[in-house]
Amino acid sequence: MLKILELPYHFNALEPYYSEETLRLHYNILYKGYVDNTNKTQEQLQEAREKRDFSNIKCLEKNLSFFGSGAILHELFFENIGPERNTSPSLLLTEQMTKDFGSFENFKAQFEAAATNVEASGWCLLVWVSQWNKLEILQCEKHQDLTLWGCLPILVLDMWEHSYYLQYKTERPKYIQAFWNIVNWNVINRRWNLI
Ligand code: MN
Repeated sequence: MLKILELPYHFNALEPYYSEETLRLHYNILYKGYVDNTNKTQEQLQEAREKRDFSNIKCLEKNLSFFGSGAILHELFFENIGPERNTSPSLLLTEQMTKDFGSFENFKAQFEAAATNVEASGWCLLVWVSQWNKLEILQCEKHQDLTLWGCLPILVLDMWEHSYYLQYKTERPKYIQAFWNIVNWNVINRRWNLI
């Protein structure tokens, strides 16, 4: 059973950059829905295996990818934002960013452009592609489309409308600018150290 991540801060802790109303809805309804549906899908898969009845397998595998990726990405998202202020990328991570993007500012510019241009509902991600020993930025549609196999997410930004529409309406760039104020680089640095 997949457990729900306990939010490591209060619902109002990210104000004014991320409103309490948005965070409550996002965490309590959307994120929990993905965890519940992942668990339900796992149970259905277990049942299918026990009965040796794979008549619904296409739908179950699809649900596993969608709900499972949704649950994982939301967990990473709620972890990599927080009320901590003035955190910054570590020297080691900055070095890698400079190698792969030219500079930290270049990384930010590409990330912002990629996030702004995510088609419909999706995510923007900084990932480590272990096969290439290289950082890349990915746009993801829904929770599972447009990825590179074997990549590890380092920093994720939810670009579904439910993540910003209540507060920022159609102004994606404002939401993205606000996001930099609540990124917890301490968490990103820890993720980077584990690679
Ligand atoms: Mn979301």
